[in-house]
Amino acid sequence: MTIYIAQDSTTSLKLSKVVKYLNSKCNYIKFEEIPIIVETNEEYVMFPKTHNKYLKQVKTKRSQNDFLIVLTELQYDNNYFFEGETDLIILSFFGWKYLTSLPIENGLVYFICGMLLDEVIPYDAIDHSERLGCVNDFLFDKTRVDDGMRKGHLCTDCKKYIQKHKLTEFESLLYSDAISLLKNLAISSSNERSILNNNSNATVLNIDTNKKTTKHSVKKSTNNGDSIFISYSHKDEKDRLKLEDHLKILQRLGLISIWTDRKIAPGEEWKGQIDNNINNARIILLLISSNFLASDYCFDIEMKTALKRHKNNETTAIPIILRDCLWQISEFAKLQALPLDGKPIQKFTKKDEAYASIARAIAKIIKEGK
Ligand SMILES: [Zn+2]
Repeated sequence: MTIYIAQDSTTSLKLSKVVKYLNSKCNYIKFEEIPIIVETNEEYVMFPKTHNKYLKQVKTKRSQNDFLIVLTELQYDNNYFFEGETDLIILSFFGWKYLTSLPIENGLVYFICGMLLDEVIPYDAIDHSERLGCVNDFLFDKTRVDDGMRKGHLCTDCKKYIQKHKLTEFESLLYSDAISLLKNLAISSSNERSILNNNSNATVLNIDTNKKTTKHSVKKSTNNGDSIFISYSHKDEKDRLKLEDHLKILQRLGLISIWTDRKIAPGEEWKGQIDNNINNARIILLLISSNFLASDYCFDIEMKTALKRHKNNETTAIPIILRDCLWQISEFAKLQALPLDGKPIQKFTKKDEAYASIARAIAKIIKEGK
């Protein structure tokens, strides 16, 4: 069985070194680098469009059990992090740096472990939706990838499954290669190292991975991503909630944290809290409607602060046009509004399309660090 690996022009991995490493740790599976850089002019990965485009550029002689993986840092339009069949899987490292301080090559090894174990332990045999701290969680949810790479273990349910089911010879070979990769990955990762810097003669015993992990998780939990302040009229509460739903995935990935005045507990002093949050926000979203324009607080205080901080390059202020109103003559008309060209969300036949386009635009701003 051979796993072919290529990358597109958005990543810059030392692929030949990674492939050499993979081959040195596996007895059965062979890895092969495809030494071309797949050209891309896409903004998002879209299945199957992007896959078909990439397949035209990558030519390999693959047999039935072989896999082809192309690595990218582009974002999937559906927020997946990998998609495809055995003929081509595009694996996206979009937002990786927000998930872990460990390098992408460690993530690739982790993904391959998950992929191989998925061949051995069927997808629906064990429910991993509860995040069992297992490598198999990764295929469902990558938010705990940092912890997973450092621990590199299988959950008890997966271990029980392996014990109970007699593996075929093919499955046993995959399993032993996957476990070998996983162990070595955990040794490197728990020592804050790239797999490529790992000294293969290093003592593998007595590494206190738990201690390292705990320390790191504490550090990570303080990093909630870029802060977003939402300024809106309470009459537009429903629209604000809908927008937050669409931004939830970015929140889960640790890319953003959202603050609205609803976070102020009853009885708490509110003005100071609003000031503090609007003055520290990386992005300020102004939800524009006639309600917003009519609200003294939104219009006179929050909007003015947003504009001032935007002008000083301290924040990115973005008007989100909820409904048609005379916003074009207001002070913030010079800002780049969303949805594109300031078309009000209300005028979209499919409102989800409008919200999704806003979420994508925000993801892009964060990624580019604008
Ligand atoms: Zn498991």
